[in-house]
Amino acid sequence: SIVVTGATGQLGRHVVEQLLEKVPAEQITAVVRDEAKGADFAARGVKLAVADYNAPETFGSLFAAGDKVLLISGNEFDKGRVGQHKVVIEAAQAAGVALLAYTSAPGSLKAALVDDHRGTEEALVASGVPYVLLRNGWYHENYTENLAPVLEHNAVVAAAGEGRVSSASRADYAAAAVAVLTGEGHENQTYELGGDEAWSFAEYAAELSKQTGKEIVYSPVSVEAFTGMLTGAGLPGPLAAVFAGVDASIEKGELVVSTGDLSRLAGRPTTPLADAIAVAVKG
Ligand code: NDP
Repeated sequence: SIVVTGATGQLGRHVVEQLLEKVPAEQITAVVRDEAKGADFAARGVKLAVADYNAPETFGSLFAAGDKVLLISGNEFDKGRVGQHKVVIEAAQAAGVALLAYTSAPGSLKAALVDDHRGTEEALVASGVPYVLLRNGWYHENYTENLAPVLEHNAVVAAAGEGRVSSASRADYAAAAVAVLTGEGHENQTYELGGDEAWSFAEYAAELSKQTGKEIVYSPVSVEAFTGMLTGAGLPGPLAAVFAGVDASIEKGELVVSTGDLSRLAGRPTTPLADAIAVAVKG
């Protein structure tokens, strides 16, 4: 089987949808925490397995020898994600899976946010399980799905200076994962994945202006000011610092990925940022 964890998340849903275009539904297992959230997949013949990274026993007999597994990194920052991911890695190792692909972060990114990814990568490589590191760059949607404050203030606020980001859509990263899960010869490969074109926040603001007919400017702020704005908006202090740290990394160019791995694996150019903006603006 092809087994996908985090299948009811935003990336996972794209992966399962794209897998359904390539392989029979009964060859796909969606790992879900909440069976009800996966009901639409089950209705289309996808197998569901209920498991939680926090409960090792739920992964006890989930995998079979020869499975190809996609471990989608979790989003519970306060629960020790490396330990959570190790639960999946150890279960996959015990079962003798053929491949375990993990959604990581770019090797160039040095922000605190990546510590969990590097820890997971180390555990995966050390496990001896045939691995693939899908080092996903940033999603367009990190920006385009959070337009409300931008449109309210006619300003894109970031602490990224003139830094550039080569983001791509979740669907693009899903296509790379599907290529790895359904293709051959990816064992023990590391892919640095990013969009074909890098953009600056000034360019992002200009494209938003063009598509909305409003005058939207880029308003660069310091990392300290940005952290304060995020906590002011209700984000816990430590998490605000982590997100602001990402902007500092962007200013240093750490989120520019120019390997071409993503479009090569997807077999097509990546989605332009302008397309993701168009989807968001039209609602
Ligand atoms: P989502 O938050 O939409 O999905 C996270 C998935 O992880 C969900 O399916 C969720 O399950 C699952 N999950 C979380 N905790 C557990 C757990 N304890 N046990 C089992 N499953 C769990 O994120 P995306 O799909 O958008 O992105 C995938 C991952 O990529 C994120 O989790 C994060 O690690 C990372 N990320 C990457 C970004 C980027 O720009 N590259 C941006 C943001 C995140 P459920 O459906 O039940 O909630």
